[in-house]
Amino acid sequence: MRNLTDVGFIKDIINRYGFSFSKSLGQNFLINPSVCPRIAELGNANENFGIIEIGTGFGVLTAELAKRSKKVVAIEIDPRLVPVLDETLAEYHNVRIINKDVLKVDLHRIIREEFAGLSVAVCANLPYNLTSPIIMYLLEQRLPVKSITVMVQKEAGQRLCANLGTREVGAVSVAINYFAKARMLFNVSRGSFMPKPNVDSCVIRLDLREKTPEGVLNEAFFFKTVRGAFSQRRKTLANSVSSAFGIPKEMVAEIILDAGFNANIRPEQMKMEDFIRFSNGLYKTNICM
Ligand code: SAM
Repeated sequence: MRNLTDVGFIKDIINRYGFSFSKSLGQNFLINPSVCPRIAELGNANENFGIIEIGTGFGVLTAELAKRSKKVVAIEIDPRLVPVLDETLAEYHNVRIINKDVLKVDLHRIIREEFAGLSVAVCANLPYNLTSPIIMYLLEQRLPVKSITVMVQKEAGQRLCANLGTREVGAVSVAINYFAKARMLFNVSRGSFMPKPNVDSCVIRLDLREKTPEGVLNEAFFFKTVRGAFSQRRKTLANSVSSAFGIPKEMVAEIILDAGFNANIRPEQMKMEDFIRFSNGLYKTNICM
């Protein structure tokens, strides 16, 4: 098979298929030959696993996943890539391409129908503009997957993997931490892509928890509270939550004190159990319903 990181071959595909990269679909394809094998190896692609890939491009990562794992189901939104993939992945008989928006695919069904008896992992080089929505879509469905290994924009990766209680934390860090243990694996420079983006990237791995944290009275309300807490960067919890929910600051301050915190506490100082305690306190008052 031809090397899918070879720029000459990529240009040949572009010419023969009349392909042009779509910015809105985040089409920056990998041309650095060392990156995809590393993602596959660190992302659990082995004979005991079925892999879901999101966004195939010309199939450069798909091929590395197919070489190592039992089966790959790859979901790609762009119909122009389907005939290209028929050519580039012709030798892999354990790959199924689904030409759909991943956010509209029933992933539970795919796992049931395609991966019986296998452990399942997700691997992807994600489109930058959809990083958080796709990751949250995967996590919130509580899919029976062991890990999610994805390439994302470097700053987004730092936020996604931030430890609670540090300055880098945002609402998405808390949400990720609720479902998984996040780890930064390695950095990837912008020169590794075609076309070259304006930012560097990194690969992160989320190992899904068997059990999410206990004690949350209402999960949807918990996430709403966390989003409210981070709605204004660097503001106190009382200020952010009172403006996000449209309730008087004094009421929020009372709940904060009742939960045992300093009145001026900031969300970036809080741990998971602190968010749970505060959100439960707010929930019990019924003022945000
Ligand atoms: N895996 C390839 C690589 O590493 O070269 C391509 C990665 S590129 C950053 C992102 C890919 O995701 C593109 O092929 C794009 O068409 C696809 N994509 C964008 N939005 C999508 C969506 N909602 N569902 C499925 N695929 C999507």
